[in-house]
Amino acid sequence: MPQLGFGVWQIPDDEAFTAVNHALSAGYRSIDTAAIYGNEEGTGKALTASGIPRDELFLTTKLWNSASETWTRDSVLREFDLSLDKLGLDYIDLYLIHWPRAMRDDYLTIWRTFEEIAKSGRAKAIGVSNFLPEHLERLLGETSVVPAVNQIELHPQLQQAESRAFHARHGIATEAWSPLGQGKGLLSDPKIAELAAKHGKTPAQVVLRWHLQLGNVVIPKSATASRIKENIDVFDFELDDEDLSVIAALDEGKRLGPDPATFDV
Ligand code: NAD
Repeated sequence: MPQLGFGVWQIPDDEAFTAVNHALSAGYRSIDTAAIYGNEEGTGKALTASGIPRDELFLTTKLWNSASETWTRDSVLREFDLSLDKLGLDYIDLYLIHWPRAMRDDYLTIWRTFEEIAKSGRAKAIGVSNFLPEHLERLLGETSVVPAVNQIELHPQLQQAESRAFHARHGIATEAWSPLGQGKGLLSDPKIAELAAKHGKTPAQVVLRWHLQLGNVVIPKSATASRIKENIDVFDFELDDEDLSVIAALDEGKRLGPDPATFDV
């Protein structure tokens, strides 16, 4: 899995084609979408139209929570087929459970169905998103395939030390969503600005570089061609130990998104 990919949340389906095109031209090969983003069709069309060999591309999509339904094997398989159809692909590189919704007590059923899908080769890898260590603990204890990835909210203001340590112990890759803190206060933080000036890079590039050096998989989103390019131009500089400790001190344990312990949609 490429360590740096492109996220397409909040990009409407009719704009996803163009945005993914910009990303592929800029050199991204990994794209992160989800059924709930409503842009699997536009994303898939851009991948196919690019002419880039399928085995050089890495497509992630996610099974959405359902407000009214407790997932069963059949409904998971149906939903997976729907995503595959919309994407126009023969297989998905990584299929994720979008949220644990532990109160519904169905993530083990979902996971066992994911294991079947992986066995069939229609998903090359399977993983989870927004799982807390307690959810992973249960999954590891009661099923046989270790999730390849846990995609969680992670940025300098929410550094997720406990989850990262848990993942490292179990060989699960940590993937950071909202890696730029959704472009809100984080990118105008004066400490980040100082580091950007020091390295002759932008605040977004400094934050992405921090993720890469921490070992996170990272999937920044932008619909703007120049920013899409800027966000992949992070392989020509390195943060030193002092820079890393400046960023370490920005952790506030502050979530921008919902709390996985209670989120149930
Ligand atoms: P992000 O942290 O990637 O921030 C994106 C925003 O930052 C953009 O909309 C733009 O306003 C700004 N931005 C981007 N590049 C910039 C630059 N170079 N300079 C200045 N501003 C810039 O936020 P995100 O979209 O929430 O997260 C990225 C991806 O993570 C999503 O697209 C999606 O694929 C994934 N995601 C997953 C979950 C989940 O529950 N699994 C939840 C949220 C997001």
